[in-house]
Amino acid sequence: MMKLRLAQPEVLIDINDLSELAYISLEGTELRIGAMTRHADLLASEVAAAHYPILREAERVIADPIVRNRGTVGGSLCQADPSEDLSAVFAALQASVVVAGSGGRRVVPIAEFHTGPYTTAVGPGEVLVEVRVPVRSGAGSAYEKLERRVGDWAVAACGAALWLEGGTVSEVGIGLTAVGAPHFRSVEAEDSLRGQVPDESAIAAAAALAARHCNPSSDQRGPEDYKRHLVGELTSRALRRAAARCVGGEA
Ligand SMILES: Cc1cc2nc3c(=O)[nH]c(=O)nc-3n(C[C@H](O)[C@H](O)[C@H](O)COP(=O)(O)OP(=O)(O)OC[C@H]3O[C@@H](n4cnc5c(N)ncnc54)[C@H](O)[C@@H]3O)c2cc1C
Repeated sequence: MMKLRLAQPEVLIDINDLSELAYISLEGTELRIGAMTRHADLLASEVAAAHYPILREAERVIADPIVRNRGTVGGSLCQADPSEDLSAVFAALQASVVVAGSGGRRVVPIAEFHTGPYTTAVGPGEVLVEVRVPVRSGAGSAYEKLERRVGDWAVAACGAALWLEGGTVSEVGIGLTAVGAPHFRSVEAEDSLRGQVPDESAIAAAAALAARHCNPSSDQRGPEDYKRHLVGELTSRALRRAAARCVGGEA
């Protein structure tokens, strides 16, 4: 933030010693991830990967081992870079976050957490302390990212999470990053899949909606129409693999 001149604070507080905020645990029906959890620890977490393979898949393609050894889950979400991978992942997983301050703690749905580029619902005097991901049966998830070279930020990426009941989609999350999707989500694509059998035609229809309703900008990573095309393709791939995983398979 400081390098980008987006923040010029007079005082810096180092929160690296808050080791009590570095954990990944299953509590009841939630996977709880402390804000100070390093990317490398989420990448290595068996409990996270067992419930939601999307977490390991995304972590594998975030930056490089040096950044992953130091960067944190909380820092990623709070930086709120429009190209942040975990923001799309937690949007797909319908997570919520816990924000703490001197007035107590509050739980914020991820859909309300990012209030714009580089801005979040964390207020003055508050810190993000935890991410909570609901754990439900019949789940499948996957992450698809295209980057210009290994370790780069996304040209475009899609995270998909599906929950099936009796072969139809009971709940779905589609997260997009780097393409100007409001709150990192494709609500239109999600709505089209709910209640459907996730077959090729339903997936193609959802992917087309995701491509139509995002707002990519032309920049050094590619022109707007190329990114829109990527969104369609990456959404199809992520949904196909998530659907296969719902029934214990791999696409
Ligand atoms: C070279 C490079 C490549 C990268 N590539 C990618 C990539 O491909 N994909 C990707 O998703 N990310 C990428 N990142 C970002 C990286 O994932 C880091 O996680 C991210 O920069 C946050 O780092 P940090 O945890 O050290 O937070 P910091 O940089 O220390 O903090 C970031 C912001 O969040 C605030 N903050 C931090 N923690 C909290 C908290 N608990 N509560 C409230 N506010 C908080 C800070 O005040 C600051 O404003 C890259 C970073 C670098 C340097």
